[in-house]
Formats: sequence, structure tokens, C-alpha cells
Amino acid sequence: MSDRRPIIAGNWKMTVNHLEAILLVQKLAASLNEQQLTDVEVVVVPPFTALRSVQTAIDGDKLLIGLGAQDLSPHDKGAYTGDISGSMLAKLNCSYVLAGHSERRQYHHEDDVLVNAKVRAAFRNGLTPILCVGEGLEVRDADGHVGHCTEQVIAGLEGLTAEQVKKVVVAYEPVWAIGTGKTATPDDAQEVCGAIRSCIAEAYGKEVAEAVRIQYGGSVKAANIASIMAQPDIDGALVGGASLDAEEFASIARFR
Ligand code: PEP
Repeated sequence: MSDRRPIIAGNWKMTVNHLEAILLVQKLAASLNEQQLTDVEVVVVPPFTALRSVQTAIDGDKLLIGLGAQDLSPHDKGAYTGDISGSMLAKLNCSYVLAGHSERRQYHHEDDVLVNAKVRAAFRNGLTPILCVGEGLEVRDADGHVGHCTEQVIAGLEGLTAEQVKKVVVAYEPVWAIGTGKTATPDDAQEVCGAIRSCIAEAYGKEVAEAVRIQYGGSVKAANIASIMAQPDIDGALVGGASLDAEEFASIARFR
């Protein structure tokens, strides 16, 4: 058993307006309170427009639920219409921010260089990046998944200090498992998460690699979380669809 504190994050994507988000986080807080979590970090990742409302709702309960954003600009300020900076997110008490989610990579053509710039922007502004990596089906079928994901991780961490790397959360999310109902088997997920930890150890040393938390994401549910969390290199989950059901998400957070 490692010292790494498990982190279960719910990515609400573009599914709720701010009123629906308030309702969802209130239900979640009630469900979590009932379930007596033991040393698990629970984070919600609402759309930008709901961050303020959710922050206000969880303000007094910060220890129970943390706040994250789904994306950030690589720039800190300026003429970037439509973008949201890391400092704006920090001002809203966000602690986490996703960088390089596969939907951003796919629909907004974000490459590893941009994702790395976002990871660095997160650190400049006191946010912890959740660096998302994962392979598409063609890459997996061609048996290139391990190399693909480790390359994405090393590119995403470029230019960080060892102390910063220790704080990064990496989310391994095979693209073919996101929102499809297909979950990687626990062994498949462990294969890639173990390789990610090894490549970080090679680049930054074992102590750094042992500190990094690695999540699995892709059709995680209450029914499959326990076997995923039983893997030695998996320290949490990034949950999409199932995080929109407060009770289900609370059960995922109580995975033991
Ligand atoms: C995600 O969007 O990060 C995700 C893992 O989604 P789902 O749980 O719905 O597959």
C-alpha cells in the first residue's frame, strides 16, 4: 500500500448549467457525508460557468470536496478572447485543472506542446494540473499504447522541476473507453499506469515517480472501481458520466 492519497475526480464536461451544478454538488455533499470517506480526495470539475456557484456551495466544506476546472489558457493575461487564465481559476479557489483531456485534443486539436504550456501555466498560478493522456483504438490495436502514453506524459511534463512533477496528477484515459461503456481491464489499466510511473522514474528519479498520483479514466462506475483501485500504480479515477449521479459518484469515492 503506497502513501499516495487516492484522488477521485468528477468531470462534469458541458452537461450542467450553474443551477443544475448547485443541485448536483449539494446532493454529492449529502451523499459523501453519509458515507464517511476515509482519506480519499474528492474533486468536482464543473464547466467554467458553474465554478463560482459550486465554489460558494462547497466553501464551508472544502475538506470534503475540492474544485477543479476543465481547461485553462497557456497565457496568464491578455487579448485571448474566450480563454480563461490560471489566475482567474485560482481566484475562484480552484485547486486543480485538467490539461490535455482527450476531448480537447480531439475537438480543439491540442497537441503535446500546447498541453505542456497549459501544465506550466497551471503551476505558475498555484494550480495542480491533471495531465490527461491516452491512446485511441488504432494505437491500441497496433500495440503502441504504452509508448504513446509514456511519450505524452514526458512531453506534458517538459520543463517542470522535480518538485513540480511530484505534485502532478496524471490521468490515463484510453480514448476508446471514454463515454463508451468499455472499460479497460484492471490489468490493461495497470500495464499503462505502471509504465507511466516507470518512465517518470527514468526521467526524474524513483522518489519523484513514487509521489506522483496516477488516475485511470474511462467508463468508471461503482461496479468496477474496486478492481481498478486494487492495482498498485492506480491512485484514483477521473470519472465522466458516472459523476453526474451524486450517489453513484459517492459510491465510487468510497471504493474500498
Ligand atoms: C472522462 O471524460 O474523463 C471520462 C472518463 O468519461 P467517462 O467516465 O464517461 O468515460
